[in-house]
Amino acid sequence: MATRVTFIGAGNMASAIIGGMIESGHSPSSITATSPSDAFLAPVHERYGIHTNTDNVAAVAQADVVVLAVKPQIMKEVCEGLASVVQQRRPLLISVAAGLDAETLEAWLGGDLAIVRCMPNTPALVGAGASGLYANAKVSDEQRTLATELMEAVGLVAWVEEEPLLDAVTAVSGSGPAYFFLMFEAMEEAGVRLGLPAETARRLAMQTALGAAKMAMASDKPPEELRRNVMSPGGTTERAVSRLEQGGLRQLMAEAMEECAERAREMA
Ligand code: NAD
Repeated sequence: MATRVTFIGAGNMASAIIGGMIESGHSPSSITATSPSDAFLAPVHERYGIHTNTDNVAAVAQADVVVLAVKPQIMKEVCEGLASVVQQRRPLLISVAAGLDAETLEAWLGGDLAIVRCMPNTPALVGAGASGLYANAKVSDEQRTLATELMEAVGLVAWVEEEPLLDAVTAVSGSGPAYFFLMFEAMEEAGVRLGLPAETARRLAMQTALGAAKMAMASDKPPEELRRNVMSPGGTTERAVSRLEQGGLRQLMAEAMEECAERAREMA
């Protein structure tokens, strides 16, 4: 029998994961999403043919996996409402909420539970996410595999063995899309200064990032070697890269990511 997965919340992140699961062959009849609002439930029901329910407890009563996909501010109330059914049913719980640690979630849900914390990123919305996952000690190997399969439906999965490392994941991939968006802005502005139409510069910059990412992922060479392959001595790329290095790009990135991780720690 297919693993029965219930999503508490039917917003952006839940819909993205549901869409990915269905695309990768998961049966819609084994997926349920909940929300107090029909405005969220109708689109996921129509689009994916999954079950929907306005009653969280009823939806969890049959679940093997429960994905907590509500906003962090309402998580306490939602978990406390689920505690008794979760204690009875004992599903694997996967939280995608930023900044709430496994111990806190476990306490709100009545204690002694298998909990996976997931830090996804927004490209999950287009099936190209990167998620960091952490499992507490009660998660079995089989449940780890389940969580991996679920999040791989929207992209790449990387496990960390210590929970605080999710702050580092936040600094790399959670907030990472914004670093690249900023780079696109900067490249477009510079391209315009060099005379290109904005739209042309933007599309070239984005396609170049996509191409570089694809090339780096397909290659067994480290990025440094790929970069050196593009840089002929005395050539154009070497001039540009030297300027970036002189300007302190590496140090700036280290500082930005350190601040990001520190902010994630503060918010926990
Ligand atoms: P969203 O606002 O799109 O969706 C939240 C959903 O929760 C809505 O369907 C809402 O109806 C539902 N909801 C509200 N109260 C509820 C209740 N009592 N019971 C059941 N459902 C209820 O939010 P989102 O962007 O999908 O974010 C959900 C979680 O994912 C957040 O915790 C966020 O930190 C995390 N997250 C989101 C992203 C992202 O890219 N959107 C990235 C990383 C992490």
